Amino acid sequence: MADILIIGGGIAGASAAYELAASGSVILLERESQCGYHSTGRSAASFTENYGGVVIRRLALASRAFLESPPEAFCDFPLLSPRGMITVARADQLELLRAELELARTLVPSITTLDVEAAIAQVPVLRRDYLAGAIIEPHCMDLDVHGIHQGFLRGAKSRGAKLIMNAGVETIDRVGDAWRVGTTAGNFFARIIVNAAGAWADRIAVQAGVRPLGLVPKRRTAFHVPAPPGQDIGAWPMVNDVADEFYFKPDAGQLFVSPADATPVEPMDAYPEDLDVAVGVERLERATTIQVGRVSRSWAGLRTFAPDAAPVVGFDSGVAGFFWLAGQGGYGIKTSPALARACFSLIHEAALPDDLLALGITAAELSPGRFRDAIPLELTS
Ligand SMILES: Cc1cc2nc3c(=O)[nH]c(=O)nc-3n(C[C@H](O)[C@H](O)[C@H](O)COP(=O)(O)OP(=O)(O)OC[C@H]3O[C@@H](n4cnc5c(N)ncnc54)[C@H](O)[C@@H]3O)c2cc1C
Repeated sequence: MADILIIGGGIAGASAAYELAASGSVILLERESQCGYHSTGRSAASFTENYGGVVIRRLALASRAFLESPPEAFCDFPLLSPRGMITVARADQLELLRAELELARTLVPSITTLDVEAAIAQVPVLRRDYLAGAIIEPHCMDLDVHGIHQGFLRGAKSRGAKLIMNAGVETIDRVGDAWRVGTTAGNFFARIIVNAAGAWADRIAVQAGVRPLGLVPKRRTAFHVPAPPGQDIGAWPMVNDVADEFYFKPDAGQLFVSPADATPVEPMDAYPEDLDVAVGVERLERATTIQVGRVSRSWAGLRTFAPDAAPVVGFDSGVAGFFWLAGQGGYGIKTSPALARACFSLIHEAALPDDLLALGITAAELSPGRFRDAIPLELTS
């Protein structure tokens, strides 16, 4: 019998396995033949401290040190590379841009206003008649998602964790003090289950007799278009609309574009709808001089949100031994180092790490209990 059984091998399950295997026996179960098949393999690979709610922003800040200087054995190449991000606004969005700047600067003072001409100098395809204002986050980075995910999986394995693919969880029940988890690869037993099943996390809860939290998977579309002729796009910053109507950035010689859609759907192997791609093309063409001749590849992934759009990390308040690590929304890669360390502390019924507490992150705002019962006071800070 293992100490801990993790369900889901995306970035959440992988990072938790890495941390938890340092102090106990861990089995990770993944339904697919490869761990990054769902949301983790479909992201925009962006590390920004200026996107998402305040809890998310703090968790990103708390993850930066690990991503900048991972432990020596983790990988032998950088996980972050400089990108920068310009948040742009039309005339009708200037009030929103002012509010965004104010919020951003409370946590990241290096985020500043950028003159429209300076924004166009950095991204020459931006239309002068579209752009009324901009702010810049100079230290926004590109993430090497594959490198981070594989680093966690490799590290977990070298600490003794067993990673089992093609192991779809079908039944979960109690046998004495233990959980018995029936999968397509056989039965597994553990004292604690960590539910890191992404879009399926509420379904796993129901299988275990735990009340679901009301997690909502939301589909987001992305596509590649060829770089505009005559433009050297490699050094362009990411461009993000202040009202979350689109974003684009250079990606392996092409432009990665998203209409920033967030359509609630059932948990599934998400695929892009033609209409969402067309909306993305229309928004890109409206804000820039780019005329899209063809879309070279399109895909979609699920961003799964709790009712307050903050992640859920902690023991279920109703059922013993059932631990949630879910609801990472559109921010699960950049926050994974901090969330995995929070997971380690809370599983061991300890206070959160000091650096997380110093940033104002509390166990209470991560706890599944915030959606129903009060959580034990000793875990609130
Ligand atoms: C278009 C897009 C852009 C994004 N951009 C960014 C970004 O720039 N930066 C950022 O930080 N985040 C971004 N995200 C969000 C990020 O990708 C997610 O928050 C993160 O990948 C969630 O990780 P996860 O491990 O929870 O989910 P997943 O990667 O989906 O992993 C969950 C795993 O659980 C497994 N599973 C489910 N049910 C079972 C079962 N019954 N038995 C066994 N296994 C099961 C699934 O097969 C899956 O592999 C983006 C997401 C999308 C879609």
